[in-house]
Amino acid sequence: MGTYRIAVLPGDGIGKEVTKGAVEILQAVATRFEHEFEFVYGLIGGDAIDRKGTPLPDETLDMCRQSDAVLLGAVGGPKWDQNPPHLRPEKGLLAIRKEMNLFANLRPVKFYDSLIDSSPLKEDVIKDVDLLIVRELTGGLYFGKPSGRRMEDGEEIVVDTLLYKREEIKRIITTAFELARKRKKKVTSVDKANVLESSRMWREIAEEVARDFPDVELEHMLVDNAAMQLIRNPKQFDVLVTENMFGDILSDEASMLTGSLGMLPSASLSTSGPSLYEPIHGSAPDIAGQNKANPIATILSSAMMLRLSFGLHLEAVAIEKAVQQVLASGYRTADVAKKGQRIVSTKEMVDEIKATI
Ligand code: ATP
Ligand code: MG
Repeated sequence: MGTYRIAVLPGDGIGKEVTKGAVEILQAVATRFEHEFEFVYGLIGGDAIDRKGTPLPDETLDMCRQSDAVLLGAVGGPKWDQNPPHLRPEKGLLAIRKEMNLFANLRPVKFYDSLIDSSPLKEDVIKDVDLLIVRELTGGLYFGKPSGRRMEDGEEIVVDTLLYKREEIKRIITTAFELARKRKKKVTSVDKANVLESSRMWREIAEEVARDFPDVELEHMLVDNAAMQLIRNPKQFDVLVTENMFGDILSDEASMLTGSLGMLPSASLSTSGPSLYEPIHGSAPDIAGQNKANPIATILSSAMMLRLSFGLHLEAVAIEKAVQQVLASGYRTADVAKKGQRIVSTKEMVDEIKATI
């Protein structure tokens, strides 16, 4: 029996509904396995702008730092779209990643047999897909300096800088190997080494790290090829690891393989402090407040939290099994329902998963 403190940041739109569902599931796990989960709540995103005048209030950040893990819903919505840049909800998300040193973004993509009709791929291609994208989240093009526009010899020029420290690359690749060791023992390191110096160093470091993991296979793949292979034959992958922007693009691509935004969880690991868990989808303003959202992405994110932050493997499996079972018995929220299937609400889906646990 363990005691854990979880910071919950519901955020905006369906973020509130799906985090509520995930908290109920975590409570069910606590009861069944005799743990104590303490939930503390903080503001982030549009809600925080409205009430505190900033997308990431200091008290939220302090609360997160003093917790064992963070569960985030989603931020944003049309209400704040016209705000100046520093008062946009998304700023809160970037800020919390940077402030909490969330350097590794993990997105598992797992195919559920019962959702075969939702995938854009043919059954033989998508069946048994179970891969994990590990994206570097705090370096690269998004943060490199210099960045900006200026005039040079009478011409307007623009610069972005892809900058990494050796240690930052080593850290993310090591994380990928550690994760692969607990999976199918294969790492695909994705780069553009035929063109970019940063990628050549990336490849070199991948080779170095691989020497410490003789039981894990390493392959290198150019990013353009990886984008193609994800569609052509996604089953070949176990763990893909890549830099920030390549990872941004590939993880969105991969997330659509199973055809269901509402199903996919993510984890963002910190170098030192607590990690953050959130669904990959956004705040879905079009369905917010209607009890329609699919809570599974957030529920699976909470399972990742149990496994990765608390080491509660059996408990994580209990959640994942329950989700699988409930889907197999035909329960569908609107986003994954096909013609003729009965559609359940967010609340009904949560209740069913809870009962199964
Ligand atoms: P962001 O910019 O925050 O990523 P977005 O505009 O890209 O947001 P989402 O908010 O994720 O996208 O919504 C995209 C579409 O998917 C919307 O039509 C939304 O209703 C639907 N959607 C997203 N998440 C869910 C969910 N959990 N359940 C059901 N539908 C969802
Ligand atoms: Mg989006």
